[in-house]
Amino acid sequence: MTLALVKPFYIFNSLNRAVEEFQPLNPPEVTLYSCGPTVYLPQHLGNLRAYVFVDSLRRALEFNGYKVRHVMNVTDVGHMTSDEDAGEDKIEKTARAQGKSPLEVANFYLQQFQRDCAALNLEPPQTWSRATEHVGDMIALTKRIIDAGVAYVTKSGVYFDVERYRGENRLGRLSRQSLDEQNAAQRLEHSTDKHSPHDFTLWVLGQPDHLMQWDSPWGRGYPGWHIECSAMAMKYLGETIDIHTGGIDHIPVHHENEIAQSESATHQPFARYFVHNAFLVGKEGTKISKSAGKFPLLSDLGAAGIDPLAFRIFCYGAKYRSEIAFNDDSIRASQSNLDYFREFARSVPDDAAADGVEAAGWAAEYYERFHEAINNDLNTPQALAVALELVAEAYRRKDFRAWPTLIALDTVLGLDLKKHRETAHASTIEADVQQLIDNRAAARKAKDFSTADELRKEIERRGYEVKDNRDGTATYQRRT
Ligand code: AMP
Ligand code: ZN
Repeated sequence: MTLALVKPFYIFNSLNRAVEEFQPLNPPEVTLYSCGPTVYLPQHLGNLRAYVFVDSLRRALEFNGYKVRHVMNVTDVGHMTSDEDAGEDKIEKTARAQGKSPLEVANFYLQQFQRDCAALNLEPPQTWSRATEHVGDMIALTKRIIDAGVAYVTKSGVYFDVERYRGENRLGRLSRQSLDEQNAAQRLEHSTDKHSPHDFTLWVLGQPDHLMQWDSPWGRGYPGWHIECSAMAMKYLGETIDIHTGGIDHIPVHHENEIAQSESATHQPFARYFVHNAFLVGKEGTKISKSAGKFPLLSDLGAAGIDPLAFRIFCYGAKYRSEIAFNDDSIRASQSNLDYFREFARSVPDDAAADGVEAAGWAAEYYERFHEAINNDLNTPQALAVALELVAEAYRRKDFRAWPTLIALDTVLGLDLKKHRETAHASTIEADVQQLIDNRAAARKAKDFSTADELRKEIERRGYEVKDNRDGTATYQRRT
């Protein structure tokens, strides 16, 4: 698709608190930086909502012909027990509790997260940038900020001078808060040698018990959390990036601080658009969070017979800027919608699915409506409704030439329908063996493992190789 054909793409820019037409700095390229996971515990469904949102944004931009360069950071050092600057490093806390090294903890939870991303069919970023591998970049940026006169060194660390940067009564660009109104928690810092309680840490010194430490011009220590994202975003994407994403909890502190320190060093705008997702909340209406102790995971959905891709559909049920409440009925309704799409995919005959087959003329209207919905500030509830209507209309007309259109819409929805159809059509499993396979899947879902094992043996006796995949699915192949 050439850019000349592109419709304007509108997105809510938290910097200006308005829906704006998106204009990248160097079209067709779009640089996208996403605040990624802190890898000391599994990512819960709330975190995964944030990443489903980023993936749908990226896919929507690609649908419009943009080439997205996407970087996601992995916080594997220094993010403390509270979201502020005080307390024990969360990764070290888990490492001590589990008798592992911080690197082992980070690798374990990063791999678990990446498996969840694959199960959710999230396009991997071109660059996963781990904080521990970029400490040199953070030190270099900290030096630039000191040279710009907006940071100072004390015995306990290097601090960003917020009052100097902002001026006394200036509001923060993102949070619209004056320093007095700013998140009180940010002031509760451990050190007494800061010039002002608002100042935040760029580099921490004098914490000999911290396991991960690096040499720096100011002494051995480790980076503050906010400097990570600025250093890594700029390293890979340049001093001004097009879009920066994260959850709304990052607005008042983390992103405000990222802007302050980046722009002090470069004197350039840091990000042209900040785009934030709202929370996934629990049944009782409170934010799902790691600190709450108990939180739902993607694997919990799998155990309840819900496909990870049904969670994608669940997320589309609300716009990214609206809170969504997690509840069993909506998750089950999302699974039914996924089954509906998949059943249609399986029914599409080979001649309608062959390469180069033209879509039915009547389907063009659905394509247009879908395009309009996603370009309208990523209106996923409407886009999903259009895709469902397209399938319903195809059934009504008994016209499978809607398939190429559905596949085009699925480049944004990410339900992997093409692969689903191909897998279903490639298998030439006899009907009675297929019945055994279906029974085994049901037994596994119900955690009836002895029946599942019996069925496995029977399927193997019938000449099939059985492989149970990590994501809970199984593959059956006739032995040659
Ligand atoms: P963390 O690993 O805690 O640093 O969070 C990773 C990402 O998930 C950040 O962008 C958070 O803003 C986001 N996030 C955390 N909790 C939720 C939630 N309940 N709903 C949506 N996004 C969340
Ligand atoms: Zn960040």
